[in-house]
Amino acid sequence: MFGREHDLPLSFASMLFNWHYKKNKRETCDHHNLSKKARMVIEENLVFDLAQIDFVQTSQDKTVKFLFRLRDGERVETVLIPFQKKYTVCLSTQVGCAMNCSFCHTGQQGFRRNLTADEITGQFVQVQNWLSENRPDDDRILNIVYMGQGEPLHNFDAVKKSAEIFLSQHGISLAGSKITISTSGYLPGLERWKNEMPNVNIALSLHSAFNEKRNILIPINRRFPLEQILNVVDAIPSGKKRFVTYEYLLVKGFNDSVEDAEATGRLLQGKKAYINLIPFNPVPGTQYQRPTDDHVLYFKGLLEKFKIPTTIRTTKGDQIMAACGQLNTRL
Ligand code: SAH
Ligand code: SF4
Repeated sequence: MFGREHDLPLSFASMLFNWHYKKNKRETCDHHNLSKKARMVIEENLVFDLAQIDFVQTSQDKTVKFLFRLRDGERVETVLIPFQKKYTVCLSTQVGCAMNCSFCHTGQQGFRRNLTADEITGQFVQVQNWLSENRPDDDRILNIVYMGQGEPLHNFDAVKKSAEIFLSQHGISLAGSKITISTSGYLPGLERWKNEMPNVNIALSLHSAFNEKRNILIPINRRFPLEQILNVVDAIPSGKKRFVTYEYLLVKGFNDSVEDAEATGRLLQGKKAYINLIPFNPVPGTQYQRPTDDHVLYFKGLLEKFKIPTTIRTTKGDQIMAACGQLNTRL
């Protein structure tokens, strides 16, 4: 489109993409070999600036938290999570979050604004640059998870565009199976995901099989109750249907009883479900507590009776407040 608009060959757009995402050229493109006209088009129309890394914190477990400063001075955090010599990068999609979940530090920050697609992909590019400079012996990033600050499906257009760039052969060339969008259950976005990008994995923050408990944890559940959300998730076109991850935050004495496990098991039994248990990570200002490790294992065992594969998310980065739900960039 862009090439046609400016009467340039179509290959021009894919070349720019390659420069920016594959060859990782910094600042502006390397202009040599380009016609004068192409150079002018670049200079007048395109910006290659990336969000700036303000601060980097590394934890003993090799998790890295990046504080980004955006063009307007707003800030977001991105987390690089190690797995052997490879990494998962956890991207933010909004400054703050409007969903106001009662257990989440980002939610406490309130909503400031949506990130643009380039601010989302820019986190990835900058983190990759940091890795090649600071840990050159490690392998590249393996997975992308939209699990940082913000509700990705509440910023659907920018998230979709960024995922398309990650998937594109001219961009990062990742398979859809390597990308996961985590949602609290924002129904309008979930409907769009089902129709527009079902090849990208979805993770639903379930946290309880009971609407009454979910209402307390995730206030948006009052508008979009669980049965409506599950209807959409269950309706992924069958050919494309793959396992859906159900994240289950475990809060001591709130949603960690035998009754909770059995209701969850019954709800997900027979679905292509995979449960990821996330023991609550402490954040300031909540009464919630984390169950003991033994209790988490016990809860896992209860779920496995329903033959649902269940894993416990190991806490990484909590030493630097980079674990799930601990991100907060209020000035
Ligand atoms: N907004 C999206 C993605 C970002 S949050 C969502 O809610 O799914 C990523 C995950 O971290 C979600 O499953 C969320 O419920 C979880 N989380 C938030 N705060 C947490 C906390 N204090 N301890 C453990 N997990 C938390
Ligand atoms: Fe937003 Fe997710 Fe935090 Fe809820 S858990 S406030 S949806 S970032």
